[in-house]
Amino acid sequence: MKKDRSKSRRPEPGSVVKSGPQRTCAGCRKSLDQDLLVRYVLSPQGEIVIDYRRKLPGRGVYTCFNHECVDTAVKRGQLQRSLRGGQVASTDVLWQALQEQVRAKVLSLIGMARKAGQVVSGTRQVLSEIRSGKHFGLLLRASDLSPAIADKVDKTARCSGIPCFAPFGKEHMGQLLGKSERGVVALKSGSLAVSVVDELERLDKFAGELNG
Ligand SMILES: [Zn+2]
Repeated sequence: MKKDRSKSRRPEPGSVVKSGPQRTCAGCRKSLDQDLLVRYVLSPQGEIVIDYRRKLPGRGVYTCFNHECVDTAVKRGQLQRSLRGGQVASTDVLWQALQEQVRAKVLSLIGMARKAGQVVSGTRQVLSEIRSGKHFGLLLRASDLSPAIADKVDKTARCSGIPCFAPFGKEHMGQLLGKSERGVVALKSGSLAVSVVDELERLDKFAGELNG
């Protein structure tokens, strides 16, 4: 099932998701929920940096999470003007930083899920739980699994309607859990899994735009 990525990410009417404060994108000038936007601030060195988790102090400027809006905002000098003459090394540097920060957020969400006992890991363990009817909110499979196993995991995920992503290698997946290599990590259904899926979908869409 292919999702329509062009749809707005605003919550459906009647959804329980609360909408946060609205901010304007410096690229397309649309006003959107700040959760859907990327925040930029001025570093002490006078450089414009991404503040994806919106934790850095100071004045912030926002863009949508896509290349077009970032590009427009930089080329028209909107980011630079709003952040008092701050400099942007290049949009490539911004994109790189953005992807790194999303990955870091994913890691921290998985860490939270692990502390909350919402993580099951190990290829055999996860596949056997799915076969016995357990539903997960998300599967992460290592990007460097053998093709045959990767295919098996992908098929199982598809058939069970579980979102499946491969953003990290086996070793990295193990480190996430403080263990040795892990081929598959599953998150139980719940708000943490939903948040991780959200971030990984953004990352996939963003990488797709770069390669497309
Ligand atoms: Zn925009």
